[in-house]
Parts: sequence; structure tokens; C-alpha cells
Amino acid sequence: MENKKQVVMLKIASELSSLSTCSRLKVGCVITDEKFNIISGGYNGSVSGYKHCKDINKEKKSPCICVHAEQNAIIRSNQEFKLNKFVFVTTFPCYDCLKLLLSFGVKKIFYINNYRKMEKQLELCKNIGIDTCRVNI
Ligand SMILES: [Zn+2]
Ligand SMILES: [Zn+2]
Repeated sequence: MENKKQVVMLKIASELSSLSTCSRLKVGCVITDEKFNIISGGYNGSVSGYKHCKDINKEKKSPCICVHAEQNAIIRSNQEFKLNKFVFVTTFPCYDCLKLLLSFGVKKIFYINNYRKMEKQLELCKNIGIDTCRVNI
């Protein structure tokens, strides 16, 4: 059942990623408690109230105007940061998002795709003792 829940959460993250308006990469994120109850979700998109990345960044320059999926999921959550959480992402978090997630109480990271650069993130997870789990859905 636990494996099934992991896959379902990653499928929801994947659905959320389809709403992304980033010209570079579409990412979805779901944050749950340790019993897989959904706390929050998000996808990457432009700063609230501003034009879409796909409309103003056709050259796909980096960094773009987008708020990352993990950042949006955290912003939309009203859970206190001390509660232990799991995160489900379509692409492994960038270094900044990883730091935010860990400080937000995330204890385990489930993901579908590798990020283009993730050595630093994996090292931090290892040093802090955070599990990472790549799942095929
Ligand atoms: Zn973007
Ligand atoms: Zn990020």
C-alpha cells in the first residue's frame, strides 16, 4: 500500500507539472505528512501577477522568472514547519529548494527524474540523513 501511495502522489505531482507555464522545465510538487496525507501542492510558474515565463522567456534563459514548484507548495501550505513531511517531485529539487524543504521538515524525497545537477543536493541529503527515493511511475 505504501508503494501504491508513493506512485499516486508522484502521479498527482506529474499532473500538477502540466499546469506549469515555464518555458524551460515543467515541475510539479506534492507535500504530504508521514502518512501520505496531502498538505500542499504546487508547480513552477511566474511571479504572481506577472506575465508567464513561456511568453516572455522564449529563449529559455536561466534563471527565469518562475517560482519553483517546491517553493509554491511551501508558500501554499499552512502547516507548521516542525511537522515531519514527505515531498514528491517530478524532478529532483535544486539546491535552494532542497534547503527550504529540509528546513520545512521534509524527511524523505520521492522523485521521478534526475535534475541536471544534483551532486551537491545528494551530498547534503546524505550528510543530514534524508532518504531519497527515485520511483518509476
Ligand atoms: Zn520559467
Ligand atoms: Zn528549485
